[in-house]
Amino acid sequence: TKPAVRVAVTGAAGQICYSLLFRIANGDLYGKDQPVILQLLDLPQAQAAVGGVVMELEDCAFPNLAGVVVTDDPKVAFRDIDAAFLVGARPRSKGMERADLLLANAEIFKVQGGALNEVAKRDVKVLVVGNPANTNAYITRKCAPDLPASNITAMLRLDHNRALSQLAAKAGVSSADIEKMAVWGNHSPTMYADYRFATVKGTPLPDLINDEAWYRDVLIPKVGKRGAAVIEARGLSSAASAANAAIDHMHDWIHGTNGGWVSMGVPSDGSYGIPEEIVYGMPVVCANGAYEVVAGLPVDDFSRTMMDKTLKELLDERDGVKAIVG
Ligand code: NDP
Repeated sequence: TKPAVRVAVTGAAGQICYSLLFRIANGDLYGKDQPVILQLLDLPQAQAAVGGVVMELEDCAFPNLAGVVVTDDPKVAFRDIDAAFLVGARPRSKGMERADLLLANAEIFKVQGGALNEVAKRDVKVLVVGNPANTNAYITRKCAPDLPASNITAMLRLDHNRALSQLAAKAGVSSADIEKMAVWGNHSPTMYADYRFATVKGTPLPDLINDEAWYRDVLIPKVGKRGAAVIEARGLSSAASAANAAIDHMHDWIHGTNGGWVSMGVPSDGSYGIPEEIVYGMPVVCANGAYEVVAGLPVDDFSRTMMDKTLKELLDERDGVKAIVG
């Protein structure tokens, strides 16, 4: 058999991980023939709960789950890892100001970035899911200067999948047939789902849908507010769909997209007027374990306005964590 890969997951006692860990252990990430060791991090007070999740993992008898490490020490969790899902983050508690939430998370991701820098494999692939995901990824990268900057990414894939599904329903096609859809910006209600380049079997999707008002006034806000709608209906935030998107993001990064576009939050190289280092949702193509931003797309007035609005939010978040990362 192949040597095992090591995958770190933080927030292991949380809701998203209650779905995510089982998907990874089942082989949905690396494939059924690849042994995986899970290295689970959570806070000291969550260790007993993680123990319960580990019992359930054992009870699934996954053939390729080659080991599980449980710890509250990031340097143990991140040692020699090939991939990291940074899911654990400080939730907003009642009365907590947005600025305090930003800073509380900045402290967490500063520590985790430092630990990744010290003990992870040099080519580790990192996906930040915990919110504010883009800014948490920005901090992680700042605090992990010895790792390749491009290997620290944030999750826009849930927004991407939500948009695909809504667009497919409107056009009466399968979501699998939609190519070249993009989500730009922050993983927040300001994200910009951009269907201008999307096609279905060669036909432009905007022509198929033929309802620009629906796209602007219904689709975009609906995708932006989908998380709130799930909370309203379920009484809990979306978890299985967030885990699914995390698997999709990392799976495609590892295995490639055969030329297809997916959306990832990546540190900007300055293209599309996005300042360098800002972690921003962009369309990318994955191949050979790396991603490349789709270059040279035209940006019309509507898109510029949308892209600048979500950028402004990210610039404000960056300013909010200056005290911690400089
Ligand atoms: P969840 O597993 O539901 O969510 C974890 C994080 O993912 C949150 O920041 C959440 O943001 C974010 N997220 C991103 N996209 C989505 C989405 N579409 N739907 C829902 N959440 C999304 O949180 P739990 O509270 O159940 O679990 C968090 C765990 O993390 C706990 O076990 C806690 O102990 C742990 N933790 C670990 C830390 C560490 O290891 N150092 C630090 C802090 C917490 P949002 O809050 O906006 O919903």
